[in-house]
Amino acid sequence: MTVADRPALDKDALRRRYREERDKRLRPDGNDQYIRLTGRFAHYLKDPYTPVTERPPKTDHVTVAFIGGGFAGLLTGARLKEAGVTDVRIVEKGGDFGGTWYWNRYPGAQCDTASYVYMPLLEETGHMPTEKYAHAPEILEHCRRIGKHFGLYDNALFHTEVLDLEWDEARSRWLIRTDRGDAFTAQFVAMGIGPLHVPKLPGIPGIDDFAGHSFHTSRWDYAYTGGDPSGAPLDRLGDKRVALIGTGATAVQCVPHLARSCRELYVFQRTPSSVDVRDNRPTDPDWFASIATPGWQQRWLENFTANQTGGPADEDLVMDGWTDIARRFRAKISALPPGQVTQESVLAAFEDADFEKMEEIRARVDAVVRDPETARRLKAWYRQLCKRPCFHDEYLQAFNLPGTHLVDTDGRGVERITERGVVAAGREYEVDCVIYASGFEVGTDYTRRAGYDIKGRDGVRLSERWADGMRTLHGMHVHGFPNVFIVQPAQGANLISNIPHNFTEAGRTIAAIVRHAVEHGHTQVEATREAEDDWIELLLSGTGRLMGSPDCTPGYYNNEGRDLGLKSWLNVGHPQGAMAYFAYIDRWRTSGEFAGLTFRS
Ligand code: NDP
Repeated sequence: MTVADRPALDKDALRRRYREERDKRLRPDGNDQYIRLTGRFAHYLKDPYTPVTERPPKTDHVTVAFIGGGFAGLLTGARLKEAGVTDVRIVEKGGDFGGTWYWNRYPGAQCDTASYVYMPLLEETGHMPTEKYAHAPEILEHCRRIGKHFGLYDNALFHTEVLDLEWDEARSRWLIRTDRGDAFTAQFVAMGIGPLHVPKLPGIPGIDDFAGHSFHTSRWDYAYTGGDPSGAPLDRLGDKRVALIGTGATAVQCVPHLARSCRELYVFQRTPSSVDVRDNRPTDPDWFASIATPGWQQRWLENFTANQTGGPADEDLVMDGWTDIARRFRAKISALPPGQVTQESVLAAFEDADFEKMEEIRARVDAVVRDPETARRLKAWYRQLCKRPCFHDEYLQAFNLPGTHLVDTDGRGVERITERGVVAAGREYEVDCVIYASGFEVGTDYTRRAGYDIKGRDGVRLSERWADGMRTLHGMHVHGFPNVFIVQPAQGANLISNIPHNFTEAGRTIAAIVRHAVEHGHTQVEATREAEDDWIELLLSGTGRLMGSPDCTPGYYNNEGRDLGLKSWLNVGHPQGAMAYFAYIDRWRTSGEFAGLTFRS
């Protein structure tokens, strides 16, 4: 069908449908509907991958401590080493480097953003990703490669959780206490705890009652399922009835594997994901050699971000579902008659591009899924960026297998868990195992997710300082908390489609500041109150959030549909977009002036 042949979209009907689907899902309890994995649920968090080894507590001093051994810690650690800081200590709750890739080893796990821009430090380590979208074991191995390449293992503390951080003004250093009895000091502390590192369970009545086996996808129990993270068949599930709760990005990746192996698989759905084409392929070494010329990865990073966020870009190197979203939007804008590019027409063009894309994604469900009723229920009725877009070429297909059953709860969620199984829409499904693909805490307070509440100058806690919402300079520095760097995307580039790009720049920034301080004998560096206020004012001058709108169907992008006023508004990026932020921060740190920071000796 050509574009001209397509029936015109009834946009009002679509808007109405989107609203109805959202309203159906809004819940008064918002984030409180989820269960924290403490107390009687703590066993869900046990590390199934690496035994904990005994070690004596640390009471020494390091120049930089980094909390979190994922991409943020690795990237910053690497840049600090290059800057000549030899004693960097990464403190990590997992048993190795990797962060999200340490924990998430469920079958089918792979990156959703092209490896060439998603996997950090490829040029420095000389690694060629084997696929356009690498699978989890390769990414985890790459994390280890970075750790070894930059000598970050020597000083690292694994299976260690920070409990407390306290600023010692007299000695210009931080005292760090951990759950392993450590009490060491660091002149600088950086924190890259990850946006999605605290698994959560749905607060379904009776969740304690289930007598069979259960686990969360981020602690996959291969001893129970058989198979391994490389995709070997889950050969212990052949006689098992399995319930999978959740249909987000994790479920989309593991369903095809479960569907192939289980006797019966019941997929409990509250909200369907939008599942676009994946189109993965092996990397051709000749092609890779032709692109991997000096500086290639930075060029690719910038090209992807520019394409994805509407920045200037002559070509699209990555060419995938993420850049397609923006390509369509740009085409609409450039089709506007000259002089008619207003905020209103831009938003309308954005909505039009989205309607068309989502119609295609819904049509794909009909084209793939044979049972019309199942296909109807697998269709997502919201704007594409309301929820995390998914990309897969085997997920929808899995519902054509006779043993795979979609249990759609029409937005209501699972009703109850019993001793024998899962109840939805009044029917009990008896199962041997319940797997929770129920995601991670987002939108709760930073200090709650961190698991510690840093105590800065004059004994003020970060939770007190941020009681009315996050306030930073550049998303990284907080007045009253000297020598601390927070590594996360909000109030910076806020680039969600490729989180490692945010960390790549953060690593460079931190290394530049620390090197400057060390070279000049400065013992303290801190953002001024004025610089922080000016930055917040700049952020709030923007049009707000395209992602995370309260008009969207609820989910973690929009705090489960609950607008927290200023707190939600503060969760934005640079008003001119990610590329503008990256260009700005590059100028800021290379100028060597670090405007807005005060250095003291
Ligand atoms: P999500 O939070 O995206 O999904 C949780 C799922 O559980 C949702 O489908 C949710 O439904 C469902 N759910 C919650 N409560 C209930 C209930 N009571 N009854 C039934 N269903 C329920 O978690 P994921 O682990 O899938 O993904 C988290 C994030 O991790 C992704 O968004 C992505 O950013 C990242 N990720 C990235 C990957 C990659 O890059 N390759 C792969 C996997 C994850 P509802 O939508 O209605 O809330």
